[in-house]
Parts: sequence; structure tokens; C-alpha cells
Amino acid sequence: TLMQSQSPVERYLNTLIAEISQIDEGKIADYIPELAKANPDHLAVVVVTVDGKVYAAGDADVPFTIQSVSKPFMFGYALQEYGLEAVLRKVGVEPTGDPFNSIVLDDVNNRPFNPMVNAGAIAMSELLRGADAAEREAAQMTFFSSLAGRELTMDETVYRSESETGHRNRAIAYMMLNSGMINGPTEEVLDLYFRQCSILVSARDLAVMAATLAAHGRNVLTGERVISPGNVRDVLSVMATCGMYDYAGQWMFDVGLPAKSGVSGGIIAVLPGQLGIAVYSPRLDSVGNSVRGIEICKRFTRDFSLHAYVDR
Ligand code: GLN
Repeated sequence: TLMQSQSPVERYLNTLIAEISQIDEGKIADYIPELAKANPDHLAVVVVTVDGKVYAAGDADVPFTIQSVSKPFMFGYALQEYGLEAVLRKVGVEPTGDPFNSIVLDDVNNRPFNPMVNAGAIAMSELLRGADAAEREAAQMTFFSSLAGRELTMDETVYRSESETGHRNRAIAYMMLNSGMINGPTEEVLDLYFRQCSILVSARDLAVMAATLAAHGRNVLTGERVISPGNVRDVLSVMATCGMYDYAGQWMFDVGLPAKSGVSGGIIAVLPGQLGIAVYSPRLDSVGNSVRGIEICKRFTRDFSLHAYVDR
């Protein structure tokens, strides 16, 4: 039977999914109208090890837009292309204590607080390389495809929905234009950011991307070096302090791994040197994290003693 062909890890994950599917708290994000169409019952967990073993349970191949889970990777891209010193002129590494879409810059040097909030991510979008908008967009897709180990595409409908309703992100970008933190063309930078958020991934893709961070930047499926080990260290450090919005402290306390969530309901978590985890469930709590996703990560890391500060 199917059950017998499953590995013990997959059996564990399937049991976990069955239990967690009982939770029906949380609400799908609807401030981007297209996101409201997600299926609230979709639920997936995928674990990928640094040697490329994939353990999947639930709706692991259902596509959804990456949203803010793209942010740590884009920070990695900027570090790869420009180096730490140049990137730190554009973005800090301090948690904000404010929501992800807050319209606030660090008043000492006008920088966005960190690359995990919208302001910081939009500042990173300006750093995409290319002679024109089309080349920069292609560079973005190529980079994310290298992380996933397959050719990714964009959800045009979500992209248009974001672009048509993203006035708050526009306000953030124009505030940064005003303070000289971005130089424009501002609408084009925003467009790249909206496109980045609209890249389609599955929980399986996100787990490969997380495992690629766990493998210090080498894609665990293709072997491609995507981000250098030193830059991965910097990416994971910011994920650890700023990756889960206003829940980052409680998350570190309970789960103990660097992580990043997004409003479509995805979360990635990374155990360096070992594995990447991705979960997907679009029901969100009040700060914008996946309710069932958090619960899966808590249970999984507890059951396998994966907390970074556990006595091994
Ligand atoms: N595209 C979303 C926005 O800019 C991403 C936010 C998120 O996932 N936290 O609002």
C-alpha cells in the first residue's frame, strides 16, 4: 500500500498534516484582492536535506505566490552582486517592531530598517542588474529559478492585482525616493518588487530554496553555487531576527531556527548544515503568519530537537 512505501519521515509528516488540518483558525490575506481566492484548506509540509532528499506531505505541489518569502533571497542577491558594505548603505539589519508594511525609515541615515520588511525589499529591487527593465526582470527570474532548481514563472493575475492596489508600497518607495535611498525610476523599481512577490512556487520549491540556504548557498538539487557561504550567513542572521514580522521573538523562542514567512501562507525555516523546511497554509494570524504553518514548525522542531540552542 501507499503507507508501506513511505519512509518513516514521510509517515511522520503525513500524521502531522492530518493533525494540524484540524486547526481552522486564521484568515486568508485579502488586502491584495487576488490572494483572497486561495483555498483555505490547502496544507503542505516539505523537508529537504542538504544532500537533496525530499520528504513531502500534503499539498506540496500546489502553486502559490512567494510574497515575502522572496525577501531574504533578494537580500542574498544584493550581497552577491554588490558586497556587504554597499548593501548596508541601502538597508540595515535591525528589527522594526512595526508591521511589515510600515512607512518608516531609520531616522539616523534614512535606511529601511532591514531587508525583510517591504521598505528594505523595495530598496533591494533597485539593485537588480540589467541594461533595461526587461533585463532586470529576467535577472530576477533567473536568480529565483537557480534557487529552486527549476524554471519558475510568475502569476500575472496576482502581479496585476498587487500593482493596481499596492498604494502603500508606492508610498514607501516614494518616501525613499524623497530621502535619496532609491534613485528611481521609482515605478520601475516597484514593478520589479511586485513581480518578485508574484513568482509562483510550491512548498516543494520553497523547501529546496531553504535547503539551499542550509547547504551554505549551493543548490541541493542542481549543485549550482547560488549564494556564497559568507552571504548565506548574513541572510540567515537577518532571517533569525526579522523574518517573522512581530512574531520574530516568540518564533525564535519556540522554534529556534532562522525563518521567513509571507502573506500567501508560506514559511521557510533553515537548520544550517542539515535541512530546509517549507510549510504552506494560507490562513494567517493577526501579524500575517500562517497559523497552521507555525504549528507544524513548532511540532516538527520539537519532535526532532532541531532548535538551534538545544543541547545536542
Ligand atoms: N506583496 C506583499 C506586499 O508587498 C508582500 C508582503 C508579505 O508577504 N508580507 O504587501
